[in-house]
Amino acid sequence: MSPMKIVVCVKHVPDAAASRRFDDSDHTVDRAGVDGLLSELDEYALEEALKIRDTAGDGGEVVVLTVGPEPASDAVRKSLQMGADSGVHVVDGAIAGSDALATSQVLARAIDRIGGWDLVLCGMASTDGSMGVVPAMLAERLSVPQLTYAAEVVVDGTQVTVRRDGDLATETVEAEAPLVISVTDQINEPRYPSFKGIMAAKKKPVDRWSLADIGVDPADVGLSAAWSVVASTEARPPRSQGEVVIDEGDGAGRLVDYLVGQKFV
Ligand SMILES: Cc1cc2nc3c(=O)[nH]c(=O)nc-3n(C[C@H](O)[C@H](O)[C@H](O)COP(=O)(O)OP(=O)(O)OC[C@H]3O[C@@H](n4cnc5c(N)ncnc54)[C@H](O)[C@@H]3O)c2cc1C
Repeated sequence: MSPMKIVVCVKHVPDAAASRRFDDSDHTVDRAGVDGLLSELDEYALEEALKIRDTAGDGGEVVVLTVGPEPASDAVRKSLQMGADSGVHVVDGAIAGSDALATSQVLARAIDRIGGWDLVLCGMASTDGSMGVVPAMLAERLSVPQLTYAAEVVVDGTQVTVRRDGDLATETVEAEAPLVISVTDQINEPRYPSFKGIMAAKKKPVDRWSLADIGVDPADVGLSAAWSVVASTEARPPRSQGEVVIDEGDGAGRLVDYLVGQKFV
C-alpha cells in the first residue's frame, strides 16, 4: 500500500468539567478565559489516522490542523505527543465567534495550503458546539466525497470502505481518495502519549497561519458574518433530586407506574 498523507482536524474545546462561560455582550463562548483541551471525539480521529499511516508503510504522514485562539495550540501539542508528525494552527482574531460555515471555510483553505493530502479525518462532532456538520461542509468545500460516522475504516490503495452502524442497519459505504471521513467513538481506543512521544513532540514542526496566509477574507468569518447567532444563554437549572422510591414490597410496581407516567415505556 502506498504511503498516505492524512490531515486530522482537531478542535480545542472548553473543559466540560469547568463551568462554561459566555460573553454576555455577544453570547459567544469564552474560549480564552477557561481551561480547554483537545476535543475527546477528535482523539478517535487522530488514533485512526495514526493506524492508517502505520499500516500503509513508510513515508506516510499525519498533519493535525486546528482553528482557534492561542490556547488551541494545546490541542496541536497533545496530538503531536500522541504521534502526529506535524501541526498547523490557524489563529486570527477575526475568527472569533465564527459559525460552522465560516469554520469549515477556514479549515478548507488551510487544507488547500497543506496540499498533497489523501484523507481528511474528523471527529463525528465537537464536544462543545456538537453540530456534527463540519465534515460534510468540508467535503463540499474541497469537492471530494465524504464517508461519515465510520465505525471501521479499511484503506486499500485509493479505495476506502467504511462500516457505519445505525440503529436499524449496518451500512458499508465506499469511495475513492482523496476524501473526508468522520469517525465515531466506537472505532478504536485512542493511545495515551508515551514519555518518548512527549519528548519527541517538542521537536515536531508547528505552522501558525493567519487568515491572510490562507487567502480568507476576514469579512467572511467571525460573529459579524455568522448565519446563525445565539440570541440568549441561560444557565441550566440545577438538577432536582428526582423522585425517591422506598421499596416497601411495592417498589417494582411504583417504578413501572413512574416509567409509564413519564411515557418512558
Ligand atoms: C454552544 C454552542 C452553540 C453553537 N451553535 C452554533 C449554531 O447554531 N450554528 C453554527 O453555525 N455554529 C454554532 N456554534 C459555533 C460552532 O460550534 C463553531 O463554528 C465550530 O467551530 C463548528 O461547529 P462544531 O463545533 O459544532 O463542529 P462539528 O460539526 O460538531 O465538528 C465536527 C468535527 O469538525 C472538526 N472541527 C470543528 N471545529 C473545528 C475547529 N475549530 N478546528 C479544527 N477542527 C474542527 C473536528 O474534527 C470535529 O470533530 C456554536 C458553538 C457553541 C459552543
